[in-house]
Amino acid sequence: MNNQLQHIIDLDEKYYMGVFGKRTPIYFTHGKGIYLYDADNKPYMDMIGGIAVNALGHAHPKLTKAISDQAEKLIHCSNYYYIESQAWLAEKLVNMSFADKVFFCNSGAEANEAAIKLARGYFYHKSAPRSNIVTALKSFHGRTMATISATGQEKFRTPFGPTVPGFSYVPFNDIDALKAAVDESTCAVILEPAQGESGVFPADKAYFQAAREICDATGALLIVDEIQTGIGRTGTLFAHEQLGVIPDILTSAKALAGGVPIGAMLVTNDAATGFHPGDHGSTFGGNPLACSAALAVLRAIEEDDLLSNTISVGLFLKKALEDLKQTTPLISEVRGMGLLIGISLSLPKAVEIKSACLAEGLLVGSIGTDTIRLAPPLILTMSEANSFINAFSSVLKTIQ
Ligand SMILES: *Cc1c(COP(=O)(O)O)cnc(C)c1O
Repeated sequence: MNNQLQHIIDLDEKYYMGVFGKRTPIYFTHGKGIYLYDADNKPYMDMIGGIAVNALGHAHPKLTKAISDQAEKLIHCSNYYYIESQAWLAEKLVNMSFADKVFFCNSGAEANEAAIKLARGYFYHKSAPRSNIVTALKSFHGRTMATISATGQEKFRTPFGPTVPGFSYVPFNDIDALKAAVDESTCAVILEPAQGESGVFPADKAYFQAAREICDATGALLIVDEIQTGIGRTGTLFAHEQLGVIPDILTSAKALAGGVPIGAMLVTNDAATGFHPGDHGSTFGGNPLACSAALAVLRAIEEDDLLSNTISVGLFLKKALEDLKQTTPLISEVRGMGLLIGISLSLPKAVEIKSACLAEGLLVGSIGTDTIRLAPPLILTMSEANSFINAFSSVLKTIQ
């Protein structure tokens, strides 16, 4: 281990709160395309992309230019004033989606906070208050108080109770359970098109369509959390487009500005009535820097046809992993949409595989002990995907 790395680890252990536990023992000094480089200039193929954030990879010329041009002019001014790139980004997101209106914040959790408040405000301002929100087991919606309350995994809530009241949880992809849980007291249902944080479990199309019908029948709003699945990750700008369902509220973050922190809530005109002036806001949300970065990401997705690339390279990867599964008993299942892929293992070796990949210059994610997650940049080429498969299959051969 080089001295500088050991020094950084020592500082981290001494001064940084231990929320991330022992991290992967490496730090990167720069990146280019789908590669990250360590201090010795050793390349690592980045197949996790900052957890579905680096949609354009690293140091993408269009994104770095947009950020540096904007930084030279204006990084931040208050939302007291009109903001040029914020107006353009709002227009672009509306033009590219179901939405009529947009709100900007700084993270996924904040976007979901806004969505939860909006759903309650919607019924309050109609003078027919409702507060109950139904979410799915194994979901993940963030780390703030309201979003851990929305998250259907007890381990995120237990130390921090009492959590925000009004949330209940149903098994994912179970239409009857959802039907039984939603009634005229429900203000919203929150669902992910694929549950990314619990192992990449895609929703059934029939389930999403039933969720839409159940919401329509009871008046509840349908909130789709596309923080991980959005911004081209699954081959359409948003994954719900493939499920044949239009939400009332959609939350976005992660890849939206390619690594610059931003969150967004996209809503219909009807849902937008849930916030009156003064009901919500943000100091940083939608500032000139973040909005210019997000505009560059959305433009690159269009200009460079990254949605088609995501579909074709995603299919290639999934097929290659399915083939690998035939000869590798360690792989028990391959799931995913586009370039969001979960590889289930028949043994609890995810962390071991992740370390072995690192040694071979491959960055993959692990979820729990038995799932490997891939969420590479959307610029991944077929030949890069092919070299990943070759390298990954060699690594798996070394795992006993
Ligand atoms: C990452 C994620 C969040 C939380 O986003 P942060 O930016 O970490 O607050 C919420 N929902 C889903 C589906 C996510 O993947």
